[in-house]
Amino acid sequence: MYPPAIKKLIAHFSEFPTIGPRTAARFVFYLLKTSDEEVKKLAESLLQMKERVKLCSFCFNPFEPFDAAQDKPSKHQEWLCEICRNPGREKRVICVVEKESDLAALENTKQYKGRYFILGGTVQKLKQEDLEMLRTKELAERVKGPEIIEIILATNSTPEGENTALYVERKLEGLGKKITRLGRGLPIGGELEYADPETLKSSLDNRK
Ligand SMILES: [Zn+2]
Repeated sequence: MYPPAIKKLIAHFSEFPTIGPRTAARFVFYLLKTSDEEVKKLAESLLQMKERVKLCSFCFNPFEPFDAAQDKPSKHQEWLCEICRNPGREKRVICVVEKESDLAALENTKQYKGRYFILGGTVQKLKQEDLEMLRTKELAERVKGPEIIEIILATNSTPEGENTALYVERKLEGLGKKITRLGRGLPIGGELEYADPETLKSSLDNRK
């Protein structure tokens, strides 16, 4: 019943995480009422984000190089985020998180001084398509060297997070590295991004 241009946009928004067709339709009708100028600004911001934001070649953290054109690495170099580039960070410890917002939550505690690795998802059951989303191959590459002495699995204390940690642990087992998990001060079923910094800090201290 909607005009094709509206239907098309609803289909796009429905692809977003947690957004169903009803919410998608609400977005579209909101945009329809919005001025041309505002919509243009939004479209420009979308393009700008795609153009400016890079994924760190080490940890997959999205970041904005100071000057993308000038900072562009040569063929053999990599795009490194501020954390990976920082010589003050402990290079021997890697903290594995599910997603960007978990990294931000841990960074907020100002407690953790090592580097991160963003896994890119979780596995609910061991479904092949979920498993393929996880960057386990890349993770194994990053941690196999002798300089890495500890891998902290900081997945959320949700059933998916637990499954994911077990799966990753099994994948890394053969490397003979020390693998730790966050201490369980975190609320069960809770996500790192909703935990207060103090709780997160103590779960980092109490990792085992
Ligand atoms: Zn990085």
